[in-house]
Amino acid sequence: MAVLLAASGCTPSDEDDAFRPGSADVGDPYVPGYGNGGYDVAHYALDVRYDPATDRLTGRAVLTATATQGLSRFNLDLAGLDIDRVTVDGATAKHRRTGNELVVEPARGVPRGARFTVEVAYAGVPAPVTDGPLGSGGFLHTDDGAIALGQPDSAATWFPVNDHPSDKATYDIAVSVPDGLAALSNGVPGPKRSDGGWTTWRWSERSPMASYLTTLVIGDYRVTTGTHEGRPIVTAVPSGEPPNGPAATSLARTGEIVDFLAGRFGPYPFEAYGGVAVADDRIGYALETQSRPVYGPGFFADGRPNLNVVAHELAHQWFGDSVSLSRWSDIWLNEGFATYAEWLWEEHDGGQSVQRAFEARYATTDWTRPSVDPGREAMFGSAVYLRGALAVHALRRTVGDDAFFRILRQWTTERRDRNGTTADLVALAERISGRQLRSLMDAWLTGGSAPALP
Ligand SMILES: [Zn+2]
Repeated sequence: MAVLLAASGCTPSDEDDAFRPGSADVGDPYVPGYGNGGYDVAHYALDVRYDPATDRLTGRAVLTATATQGLSRFNLDLAGLDIDRVTVDGATAKHRRTGNELVVEPARGVPRGARFTVEVAYAGVPAPVTDGPLGSGGFLHTDDGAIALGQPDSAATWFPVNDHPSDKATYDIAVSVPDGLAALSNGVPGPKRSDGGWTTWRWSERSPMASYLTTLVIGDYRVTTGTHEGRPIVTAVPSGEPPNGPAATSLARTGEIVDFLAGRFGPYPFEAYGGVAVADDRIGYALETQSRPVYGPGFFADGRPNLNVVAHELAHQWFGDSVSLSRWSDIWLNEGFATYAEWLWEEHDGGQSVQRAFEARYATTDWTRPSVDPGREAMFGSAVYLRGALAVHALRRTVGDDAFFRILRQWTTERRDRNGTTADLVALAERISGRQLRSLMDAWLTGGSAPALP
């Protein structure tokens, strides 16, 4: 509300400057309790040490944030783990835990508009998320290390965070693991150092990242480092898998597939590329973790390369990662476009045409299930992925290829590093095509019966 008053030119009243508690969630019904109000995080500096022998994680997180209201106290999301100490701008702050909330009360209130730092020292045995819509996620202890991964909630299992995609931030991540193990994460790799039996791997993500797109993969991996288009590319596969196995062969095509997608969506939005294949069967999905997607073993289980999944996760680098959701009910904006990218890639790669994929899916779609606001339990259902992709192609057929690809490029350009909603996308499509598209998109995304073919 304070932001709205400022934007409309009103002078802040005394009430706006008063110190009051920040809210304990952002009010997104898909993730009750997640995210917090009253501040905006710009940067996370994370320094964690993980010992697979004891499953114990020791961490220090320094958050740089701006108060969007006068704050007497504020919340961070943190699931499990014990707090050693919390400081705000260097001064010890009171703190308490309530469920997955860490409530911080600074020694003095933080004025609205002030930039402040929060440092949290914490430790413990991190826990997985077992009741998420994707199945297993959060922090998983594996045979050779650990995997921190999941959507919509995972980050809070290993660091204190404003855990909602509406508050994106940059990250520096340092991970110390016993010598010999790899520790992979997001963004550009930094210098690696070993000392006293521990190796510290450093990663830096300079483009704002939604918290669920952070990842940690620790274990025995064959790491391949190179450059692509002048930027680092880091891929990794379990060291037990052959160098010419299906996962390694698929990930080796990352640069080529990114370039194909960049030709459709606009320039690749990040400073690094990559991908990590994991062996743990509990990861029954792939996730578009920023600049370095993580692929579960099931995608390569038949022994053949799987380029569709690579195209899908790389398409998310534009749709979901660079341009992020404002609220989870719009998740079709991520999955519809990523599924559509699979169709584009398949056509390019000599498989079936986009039009044939569209016709086949149209014939089998259950139109009673909506793409927009599908409900938390159906976040990863076919209405979000396949019906979403049908809506994308219906838009293309209606406005024509030229306007369609201009809409996509404009979306990824003007919303880069930001957020967007379904209404924002429809408004942009109307602006660029000069046509009324609301009822068309409503019919394809949420109508209860099969829409007329465009
Ligand atoms: Zn996806």
